[in-house]
Amino acid sequence: MEIPGKYVREEELRKMKGVIEYVPKAKYSYSAGQALSVFLRGLKEGKILGKRCSSCGRILLPPREFCESCFSPAGEWLELPQTGRVETASVSYISAKRGKLERPEIVAIIRLDAPGYRGDEPEFPGIFHRLCGVSEEDVMSGRVFGARVRARWRPAEQRAGSITDIECFERW
Ligand SMILES: [Zn+2]
Repeated sequence: MEIPGKYVREEELRKMKGVIEYVPKAKYSYSAGQALSVFLRGLKEGKILGKRCSSCGRILLPPREFCESCFSPAGEWLELPQTGRVETASVSYISAKRGKLERPEIVAIIRLDAPGYRGDEPEFPGIFHRLCGVSEEDVMSGRVFGARVRARWRPAEQRAGSITDIECFERW
């Protein structure tokens, strides 16, 4: 099928009449909400905080005020262990700002060693984060899957109440 029209290169587009460049200055603020605010403050203190559903017992991480599984209010706060296993991992060549990375980052879902979990449940408290000390080959060969890891924190004075207060998860 032939698609009508003409391909226009970026440099040709910029020379065309009527084309303007505009960089929007969009400013916004985001409210983290009650549960997530406590979680973020916990990160600043070097703690991973979750909530346990008072009805079905599942751990909500990141914490939420309501359990979306059984629609009950989430109950008690608990500090989660900072250790776990690599559930799955991927090699990323694209940065968080969509740029091309010279050296790829290894990103993973970490299944935390949460109390009350055996470790083989299909649903578990986990964190999506970077892995450090792991190579592309470790991921491509599958060696990293199931590896024991722990959180490596930024120094306390550099923490900002962000998920990046955890620098990465490292093998131990
Ligand atoms: Zn529940």
